[in-house]
Amino acid sequence: MADLSNLLKIPIVHNFLIEIGGETCPKLISLCNGSFTDEEIFNVLENDTKLTKIRSVLNKLHYKGIATYERTRDKNSGWYTYTWNIKPERIVELITQIHNESIEDFEKRLENEQNYIYFQCPNNCERMPFEIASEYNFKCPECNSDMQTTDNTQLIKDLKNTIKDTRKQIEEISKFKHLKPEEKIPVPSETAEPINSEETIITQKEKQTGTKLA
Ligand SMILES: [Zn+2]
Repeated sequence: MADLSNLLKIPIVHNFLIEIGGETCPKLISLCNGSFTDEEIFNVLENDTKLTKIRSVLNKLHYKGIATYERTRDKNSGWYTYTWNIKPERIVELITQIHNESIEDFEKRLENEQNYIYFQCPNNCERMPFEIASEYNFKCPECNSDMQTTDNTQLIKDLKNTIKDTRKQIEEISKFKHLKPEEKIPVPSETAEPINSEETIITQKEKQTGTKLA
């Protein structure tokens, strides 16, 4: 089923999110189906991740266009509340873009491997195509050993497999490209304050973390 939890299970998605927002990022996103405030996420994570850390991850996701927010100001307290939304379709878009670029690089390399004869010395110094090796009179510029033609059959096979595998992964995540966040607010843990008394939550959380919403 093309839902957020299944999208997050795909290794390239999981790794991509860790790269962007660190180890907490995939878990944080898995809890963020629907609109939510950073305080609500703080409660759902059962206080094992600091509020400042949650905000930092959300800011990184915002920078990439994966998270969007609306800011509202409480008239009485003056505190700002941020209501966040995760855009799964943006995750798919970014990963597809990155992997399409990798495929282009791999294809270029494959083309070179198929069209040129490469030379290398027995000490496995730098490989080079015929044109460059001939300029060195087929003597390795690093160790001066004679350079021989290399067998790139395995390399070509590996490149073809990598391209095939990357395409397969892009196809897999493309099923999620129209995925929208569900209209669901995360349920706070039992010990957490009720979510409707926003003023109380914000002031208490700010005191706990010693930070101020700006
Ligand atoms: Zn050499």
